[in-house]
Parts: sequence; structure tokens; C-alpha cells
Amino acid sequence: MGAVALAAGVYRIPTAGDFINTFAFVEADGSVSLVDTGMRFASRRIVQGLASFGKDLSDVQRIVLTHAHNDHAGSAAKLLPRTRAGGTTVHVDDAQCVRAGSPPATQSRMMTAMNRLPIWGWPPCPVSEELVDGEVIDVAGGLEVHHTPGHTPGHVSLLHPASGLLITGDSIFNMAGRMTWPVRAFCTDFPLDQQTAAVLATLAAAGVRKPILLHGFDATVWPLARHAFALGLSTRVGLEDGATLPDGTPAADNAALVRAAVLLRAQ
Ligand SMILES: [Zn+2]
Repeated sequence: MGAVALAAGVYRIPTAGDFINTFAFVEADGSVSLVDTGMRFASRRIVQGLASFGKDLSDVQRIVLTHAHNDHAGSAAKLLPRTRAGGTTVHVDDAQCVRAGSPPATQSRMMTAMNRLPIWGWPPCPVSEELVDGEVIDVAGGLEVHHTPGHTPGHVSLLHPASGLLITGDSIFNMAGRMTWPVRAFCTDFPLDQQTAAVLATLAAAGVRKPILLHGFDATVWPLARHAFALGLSTRVGLEDGATLPDGTPAADNAALVRAAVLLRAQ
């Protein structure tokens, strides 16, 4: 699989099953911004994903990282020289780790020791832009930076209001179709992660301003509906968003979609 279209000019490139993804935003001038780069061997998948919608690495002008872990920053150093980006864009609190090619220490002594093993690291990677909370990055009409520390000190979630896509990085996991918290041992501060991921609820509460936040398009309809239910938020599911049921089969009509959503909420 190359890439999954999420909205006009917005793609998800799966780099390890559906579990580890790179997101691509096509700019008005045809250039591309990437969010996250998968593991260190993901560059070939990313190149294939870009090719599936007619782009290549020479079109990439920015690489944003949600946080300093090997499955997000892994192939950034390898990709960068083939792009037009001078370095990665990452939150100020994770920048030093991205540059060093090693993850931040966690509350688990075992994980912190394991972190020193080369497998948990990545090739040291330049950072050209350091982010702070509340910033709007100049990506495809604006990408809002929401600092959601806890998984790592500089973890960010990224909201693209134009499409309603919310990239939650590892602050919340989507495992086998269910929203769960990340594995505690991988977090620098697990309770803080749970606390700050609540910012995602705050974002939804601002739904008056961003009415499409917690409903998706096509492939993201059901994951975002689950996300909304898990956080106790309202959502919307209908034929205008996507035409398949959670199991991937086509819905007979709008009522079938609503029935599926009610069942999902009851789970
Ligand atoms: Zn992570």
C-alpha cells in the first residue's frame, strides 16, 4: 500500500502495517510537508507513498516530528539530505534528543537502561525549527501545535483545522481499532500524558470554532468516532463523511451508519 487519502491533499503513509504512519500535506504550490518519519528503515515506504500521489522527496520542504522516539524520528536523518528541508521541526523540549539520536529518559529504570541500546536510537538528526505550544506552523493552511507532554517532554499533537485531522502522535494509541493510553514504560511521565491528552478533549470542546474536529473522512471516520466516544465527546458519522461500516463493508444507507455508531458507543 502506498498512501491513504484522508482529505484533499492530505495523506497517511503506513510505514509498518497501520501502526506507524507518516502524514503528508500537499501545499498550494505543490510542495509537500511531512509529519513523522517512521522507523529508521521506513524511508523506502515513504518514497513509495509519496510516489502514489505523484510526489518525491525533492518536493518535501518541511519535516515535522511529533516527538523524539525511534518510530517517529527514525528515518528523518536519512530523508533530509534528499529533501529541501534544512532540518526537522520539533518541539523545543524534544529537540536535543532528536539531535542526539536518543530518546528521553523514562520513569521506568529498565526502559531508561534499554534506551541506551542502539536499537532504541536513530541517526542523529538536525533540527532547524523548534516549536512551542499554541504555534501555528505554515503547513497546508495552518497546522496548530498543541503541547501534550508526558509520553515525552516535547510531545505535540497537531491539528489541521482545514481538514479536521488531529494527529495525536503517541499521546493516545489506536490499537486494533481501540483508543488506549500508551504503554506506561515508554512514557517519560505517564500521569502527565493522561492529563495532557485531555487537551484533545478541550480541542473538541472548542468544536464550535472547529466543528469538524472529531469526525473524519473515509478511512478516519471510525477511528475518530472511537476517539470521540473514548473521550466522552460528541461526534458525527454520516454518508457525507464516509460510506463504509467499521468492518470496512459498504453501508446500505445513512441509518446503517448511525446504527453502527450507536453500537460502537455502547461498547
Ligand atoms: Zn513514542
